[in-house]
Amino acid sequence: MIKMKLEIKNLYVKTIDNKEILKDFSLCVAPGEIHAIMGPNGTGKSTLSKVIMGSPDYLITSGDILVDNTSICSLETDKRANLGIFLAYQNPVSIEGVSSSEFLRSALQAKESSKINIYEFMKNMDQAYADLQMDPNLMHRSINENFSGGERKKNEIMQLKLLKPKFIILDELDSGLDIDSLKIVCNNINQYLETFPTTSVLIITHYPRILEYIKPQYVHIMNHGKIIQTGDISLAFEIEKKGYILSTNAMSGVETNE
Ligand code: ADP
Ligand code: MG
Repeated sequence: MIKMKLEIKNLYVKTIDNKEILKDFSLCVAPGEIHAIMGPNGTGKSTLSKVIMGSPDYLITSGDILVDNTSICSLETDKRANLGIFLAYQNPVSIEGVSSSEFLRSALQAKESSKINIYEFMKNMDQAYADLQMDPNLMHRSINENFSGGERKKNEIMQLKLLKPKFIILDELDSGLDIDSLKIVCNNINQYLETFPTTSVLIITHYPRILEYIKPQYVHIMNHGKIIQTGDISLAFEIEKKGYILSTNAMSGVETNE
């Protein structure tokens, strides 16, 4: 069953060289909910996504991350992926010498802990490439090596379609995608959500454009490592009109000359 509740409780996170990035960050995403986190550059959005995935570059100094009421903080990244958490990275890294088809085959094998049907796998992979309008030759090249920005982003969503996660984090999905590719990618995600409506999604973005395609029920504004306001989609468009500085000043009661 594709269903997961993810809860982040009063999380404090610093880098290994002691820079505090997340400060008392809390969020709860129930199955089937779509949440967006918006915030200015450098506020800790990508850090949050990497900490959820278990990146060793960060230390949790207090607080907890729970999946279905059980802490996942001691789990390695691969275990979190096997639980069904998926992160489409802001800057997907290339992996020399490993092709997408090899990578996905072993990822699926690890997840399902039984031998996968190669014929079925190749059929699904071909279908995902066609759905995303990707060049099928990319499947045999080293992952992301010399891929364009758009190809990297599409490749992340191709993986999502095959791995069938329960909890999807999209970190700045629109960066590197032209408007037509963004539409194709978002249509694929929406189709996935129609097929598996209890999937949860966390969309991290600083522009509201992507939210016109994948519609969140909740929009959170993040600043200096924590959520400072929560609203619905109208909050995202307010930010677009006013910018983060005016909006966050208004929230803290600072007078502005609009
Ligand atoms: P955002 O995604 O909101 O733009 P990030 O989470 O990427 O922000 O970064 C937040 C801040 O933390 C930035 O100032 C960034 O330079 C810093 N930072 C992030 N990761 C590291 C790291 N591994 N080591 C040192 N500083 C980091
Ligand atoms: Mg970022």
